[in-house]
Amino acid sequence: MTNHGNKQWWKNPHPECKPSTSVISAGYDPALSEMSAKMPIFTTSTFIFKTAEDGERFFRLSTHPEERKHDEAPGLIYSRLNNPNMEIVEDKMVVMQAGAEAAAVLPSGMSAISSSILALLNPGDTIVYSAPVYGGTEHLFNTAINKYKIKTVPVHSLTVDEYRKVIEKHKDTLAMIFVETPTNPTIVHSDVEEIVKLAGEYSADNKRVIVAVDNTFMGPVFQNFFDVGIDICIYSATKFIGGHSDLIGGFVLGSKSDIQKIKSFRSVIGAATDPFCCWLMARSLETVEIRMLKASENAQKIAEFLDSHPKVEKVLYPGLLKKGDPQYDIYKKQCTGPGSLISFYIKGGKKEAFKVLNNVHVCRLAVSLGGTETLIQHPRRMTHADVPEELCQATGLTDNMIRISVGVEDADDLINDLKKALETI
Ligand code: PLP
Repeated sequence: MTNHGNKQWWKNPHPECKPSTSVISAGYDPALSEMSAKMPIFTTSTFIFKTAEDGERFFRLSTHPEERKHDEAPGLIYSRLNNPNMEIVEDKMVVMQAGAEAAAVLPSGMSAISSSILALLNPGDTIVYSAPVYGGTEHLFNTAINKYKIKTVPVHSLTVDEYRKVIEKHKDTLAMIFVETPTNPTIVHSDVEEIVKLAGEYSADNKRVIVAVDNTFMGPVFQNFFDVGIDICIYSATKFIGGHSDLIGGFVLGSKSDIQKIKSFRSVIGAATDPFCCWLMARSLETVEIRMLKASENAQKIAEFLDSHPKVEKVLYPGLLKKGDPQYDIYKKQCTGPGSLISFYIKGGKKEAFKVLNNVHVCRLAVSLGGTETLIQHPRRMTHADVPEELCQATGLTDNMIRISVGVEDADDLINDLKKALETI
């Protein structure tokens, strides 16, 4: 909490420990809040300056952070620019994602994506992206982003060769490779290490190709790409980070300089995150690992059940990949667990899929993912309703597909629920 001095030890008091330990205390110094064991919620829009000189200096540093002297506290001014709860949750996020230098909290995953692009790219630039991306991202790429003269080009078949082919056609203007891995809801992994190498090949002294990964599905517990050299990592914190389906939030992580640009942009467009939401996310980060591990254990059991069910045509789940499949090699290389998102195709079409959705009782019929409760939905007609038909055809986003975000309930209860729903078709 920057206004309280220059001792920064609380940003990560236990750097020698693993993230699940560090995250409990990171970002918060009890001595700054009456020794309160847990962080308060700082519901204030503005902060008192001790002197006019302090106020002048804090304003100067807010627009010229590079002038900050070693150990100098930047100072708190106004909650659209910064707030202790924003800072605490950012510090916790940094310890969860080894290799990230800094984090910016944003009011949603979509604002994390759009702010990253608008703060780091320029008109005339091209983004090459893995398809399909989340429906909202696809919509952003095909509407607002294009309006600012930033071109967006999808890669359909997510092999490195295919990325190279598309990139080669746009190499003069290429500024970002945006990867969602695994894809939502088709669960296809892109080889991020190879993509970083490709970005290096197409970068030059005066032109950096940024690799941005939307790590919402598997991170921060099962995937971290900073060790292979990505530039920015984006989250919808609405999902596993919030983890209880009770907030909307987002993060961008990366180098200090990229994150500073995003924070400056965030301040001027007014995309501050409310202190209570930051407090909820900070609290949720303390349990993100155990929640994700339990949900993934459940998901493995459910995927195996679905895979052996006669009314199910095919199940897409990393934990079912077999040796010999190129996807298995990428999965093993870059994920430490299979996660808790399952997509499956039932025998039939939309009618049969809707029947299953209308007959579950323990699983809840809703979009979103990453909460404690199991959510089930129909991507083609719900989250991905805006994806153009030809892209759906090309990527297998069909009417007989159902997606489940598995929660932390008892796995047998979930299996019984799905079994009964499948019996209705
Ligand atoms: N990225 C992915 C992979 C998502 O699934 C979503 C939302 O479902 C988003 C980004 C957008 O996040 P938000 O709804 O928090 O804006």
